[in-house]
Amino acid sequence: MKKFNTLLQKWYFPISLKYVSLVAYIVLIVTGLMAYSTDAEFLKHLRNTNLGNLIVWSYWWPAIVIMAIFFGRIWCMVCPVEIITTFFAKIGLKRKRPKWLLSGWAITIFYIIILFVGIQGFAIHRNPFFMAIYLLVIVGVSIIIGSIYEKNTFCRYVCPVGYLLGLYSRLSFFGWRVKNKNICDTCKDKSCIHKKYQYNLNVKSCGVDLYPANITDNANCILCAGCLKTCNEYQSEPNINRPNPEFRYIGFANDLFQLKPLKIAEMVFVLVVSGFVISEIWSEWKVTDAYLNYLPNLLINPLSVENKFIVGLIKGTIIFGVIPTIIWLLPWLVSSITKAKIKIKEYFLNYGIAFIPIIAAAHLDKAILKTTSRIPYFNHLFDDITGLTTAQRIIDKEIIISQTPNWLNVGISILMTGIIGIGIYLSVKVIRLQNKKQGLEKSVKTTYLIPVIYGSVFLVMILIWRWNM
Ligand code: SF4
Ligand code: SF4
Repeated sequence: MKKFNTLLQKWYFPISLKYVSLVAYIVLIVTGLMAYSTDAEFLKHLRNTNLGNLIVWSYWWPAIVIMAIFFGRIWCMVCPVEIITTFFAKIGLKRKRPKWLLSGWAITIFYIIILFVGIQGFAIHRNPFFMAIYLLVIVGVSIIIGSIYEKNTFCRYVCPVGYLLGLYSRLSFFGWRVKNKNICDTCKDKSCIHKKYQYNLNVKSCGVDLYPANITDNANCILCAGCLKTCNEYQSEPNINRPNPEFRYIGFANDLFQLKPLKIAEMVFVLVVSGFVISEIWSEWKVTDAYLNYLPNLLINPLSVENKFIVGLIKGTIIFGVIPTIIWLLPWLVSSITKAKIKIKEYFLNYGIAFIPIIAAAHLDKAILKTTSRIPYFNHLFDDITGLTTAQRIIDKEIIISQTPNWLNVGISILMTGIIGIGIYLSVKVIRLQNKKQGLEKSVKTTYLIPVIYGSVFLVMILIWRWNM
C-alpha cells in the first residue's frame, strides 16, 4: 500500500487513467450509437455482440461493483465524468448549492428515473443505442450541474453510480483516512480544503465537502487523491509526516459495523436497490422471472396496457417499490405484533443497513453470472464492433455460441451460494450489533427476520435453480 500511496503523489496518477477511460467511454458510446435497433428478437443477440453494450453491462458495471465491495469507490478514482464535471465547475457559475440538492434526494430521484425510464422504458441494459444515450445523459447532467454549482456537486450530490458504490464500499477492506489526526490539528495550511486550490484539475483541495481528518467512512470520498497532493505540495513549513491522507487497510466491513443510521433519502435509495437486485437475480431463471412478472401482469393484462412506458411504470412501481416495501415491512410488523417497541422510522433507518450486505452479495452474484456467461461472445467481438453482422449471423445459425462448460457452471453455483451465505451472515451480525446498540438484545428476535426473509429470496432461488433441489 505504501507504493500505491507514493504513486498517488505523482502528478500523472490517477489523472492519466481518467483520460484513458475518457477515450474508452467515447469509443463505447460511438459503438452503441452505431447499433440502432428496436427489433426485440435481434436485440437479444445484439446486446451481447455490440462492443459498447457488452463491455458496459457485462464487464464494466460488474467490475466496478466487485471493486467497490473490496476496495471502495476505486472506480471514482478513474472515472472520466469526474474530470468533465470538475472542468465545467472551474469555468462555470459556481453558485451555492440549494438545500434540496444537499439533502441527498437528488441522487435517489435520479436513480429512480434511471430505473423507471431507462431500464423499464428504454431497456438501456439490453439495447446498445439506448445504453449510449444513457451514458451521454450522465455526461450531460454532469456538465449542467458542473456549470451551475460550486465545487464538485455532481459526484457528491447527484451521481447515483458513485452513491451505489459508496453503499457497497461499507464492506470494503480499504478506505481513505489520515495517518495522524494530530498533524491535521496543528496544520496551519489546511491546503486539503483551501479555497485557493478548489478548482485545480489535479492538485486540488477537496471538491466533495470532506475534511480528510474527519473521514470515518467510505461513502463520499471519490478517491481523487487531490487532498494527498495538495497536502504534499503546498506546505508553508515542510513536514516529513505529510502528506497525511492515504489509502489504507481499514478491515473488512469496517463501515458497515459502525451502524451509522441511514438518512431518509438514503433509506429510500437502499429500498429501491433491494428491489432492483431481486429483479436482477430472478430474471436469470425463467421460473422466477415468471413469478417476478406475475404481480405486474395482474394489473397490465386486464387493463390491456400496451404503451411500453406505462407498462414500465407499472412494473417498476411493483418490482422496485411495492415488493421491497413489503419485504422491509414484514419483520417490523411481526415485531409490532410481538409488542417490540421499535418505531417504524427508527426501524427503517437503523435496521435498513442490515439489507446492504445481502444486496451487495446479490449484486456480486449477478456480476459473476454476467461476466462468465458472456465469455463466448469475445471470439467474434473485434471482427465486428457494432455487433450488427454478428447478431444476424447468430440468428441465421452461421455462428453457434458455445455453452458455458459444466465445470464452470458448478464453480459459479458454489460461488453464488457462498456469497449469498456470507451476505446473510453479515446481515445477521449487523442485526445482532444493532439490537445491542438499541438495548433490544434479548427481547427483539424478530429483527432477524430481515436476513431470514430477504436472504431466502435469493438463497432458496439459487438452491432450486442452480442445484436442482
Ligand atoms: S490533510 Fe494535510 S493539509 Fe489537510 S489539514 Fe491535514 S496535514 Fe493539513
Ligand atoms: S477526501 Fe481527498 S481523496 Fe477524498 S474526495 Fe476529497 S480530495 Fe479527493
